[in-house]
Amino acid sequence: MIAIIGAGISGLTLAYRLQEQGTPYILLESSAMPGGYIQTDTKEKSILEKGPNSILADELVLDFIKELGLSQQVVEANAISKKRYVYKNGKYRTLPSGPLSLLFGSFFSFSQRLNIFKEYFNTKPYREDSTLYDLISERFGQEAADYALDPFVSGVYAGNPKELLADLCFPVLGKNIRSYGSILKGFIKNPPKRRVSLTFQQGLGTLIHALADKVENKRYACTVEDMQAAGGQWKLVCNSGQEKETLLCDRIVFALPAYQAAPIIRSHSIEWAEWFNGIEYPMVRNMHLVYKKDQLAFHPKGFGALHPRIEPLFTAGVIWNTSTFEGRTADDEILLTCMVTEKRTPSVATMSDQEAEAAILKEIEHLYQIAGKPVFAQSGLWKKGIPQYTGTMTTILNHCEELEKMNVYICSNWPHGISITDCIHRAHELATKFKI
Ligand SMILES: Cc1cc2nc3c(=O)[nH]c(=O)nc-3n(C[C@H](O)[C@H](O)[C@H](O)COP(=O)(O)OP(=O)(O)OC[C@H]3O[C@@H](n4cnc5c(N)ncnc54)[C@H](O)[C@@H]3O)c2cc1C
Repeated sequence: MIAIIGAGISGLTLAYRLQEQGTPYILLESSAMPGGYIQTDTKEKSILEKGPNSILADELVLDFIKELGLSQQVVEANAISKKRYVYKNGKYRTLPSGPLSLLFGSFFSFSQRLNIFKEYFNTKPYREDSTLYDLISERFGQEAADYALDPFVSGVYAGNPKELLADLCFPVLGKNIRSYGSILKGFIKNPPKRRVSLTFQQGLGTLIHALADKVENKRYACTVEDMQAAGGQWKLVCNSGQEKETLLCDRIVFALPAYQAAPIIRSHSIEWAEWFNGIEYPMVRNMHLVYKKDQLAFHPKGFGALHPRIEPLFTAGVIWNTSTFEGRTADDEILLTCMVTEKRTPSVATMSDQEAEAAILKEIEHLYQIAGKPVFAQSGLWKKGIPQYTGTMTTILNHCEELEKMNVYICSNWPHGISITDCIHRAHELATKFKI
């Protein structure tokens, strides 16, 4: 039997796939509810995502959604959401979305635009230990790194591109350089496959509920605390509140954050526990703000706006939920989701909830020229947010095979990719591996 620890999107997807293919499993979740980072709240007519807001779905994910019978509930992003804004020199400017707007637009200086096109002829070899910032600034120029890469990385990883490794975060960059000598040339020869940005009518929680309803062999409010070798099998020590019990299994799958896997593996291997603990999960705060449309002088139309760290702002960016997806709040209202990350704004880590909320409100009301107070506001805090793809992640990836030889597997947003799509892919890949 396979014991899956954690019922977030990764653990649920794996459990569902194993059930479908007839592989025995049990899914163990410490909370009373499944979902992990994916948590949807509704308040009045608003759909509020505490964690992820959308899925950038590829073919496998779209097929999976169809298989679960959820296609009718999918809400695809509006065409306008292709527009993204970046705060530059005191105002929002549209980020170029293609070669023409890049060449003829004024987002980048003339010399920066020239640098971007010159990358096509770059012949510098690829260094596998490059950080994202070094790679992009060396090949495209500093302005591109500060105003395109940095805010993008803040938005996806809540991280600092000067720390994140290019090879782990976007392996396609190194692949393009190795194959074609240039990142740009690689993208022209092999354009990225089409992906669909989507959510569901009732938010991302729909996916979690559908999976949880289908997965039969599961236990909630059951925290796994320890694992011990037991004659070719594993003995898990589980705590369900009342008493501790043990559970025998053949394989263990960690479908939980690395820092929560660390105490489980510690009694078996201090080295692995240290590696797991070495992955940093910096803080992310978000705040949902709902206003009447006529309170805003500026009507956001696009996916949202990103705030590069080089600009003197507190927040990392704002998702314009109402213009991205239909039905996120009442027709006469606007829903904004504001994000603050510890990596961009270190002071947020020591602020109280009230201080952080006041700083967010002050900045947003100024940026969007808002008259009056929000209809309502709801804030959320992930003290440990998104795992950072730095050197420790390389160590774990390099040793994954040894772990798997002990019948211990990782199926989560580390080390195989951060997005929900990555998690769904990894779960499918593991299920295939476990097929008898
Ligand atoms: C603020 C934020 C915004 C994001 N936005 C996006 C986005 O828009 N799009 C996107 O694709 N991705 C986004 N992500 C990333 C994405 O949400 C996550 O990578 C993904 O949801 C991780 O799922 P998981 O199942 O691997 O882990 P988790 O969701 O962390 O699930 C792990 C589960 O394990 C349980 N658990 C922990 N310890 C134990 C234990 N000892 N015993 C049993 N169970 C245990 C936990 O309770 C939890 O339910 C975002 C993440 C954050 C934090």
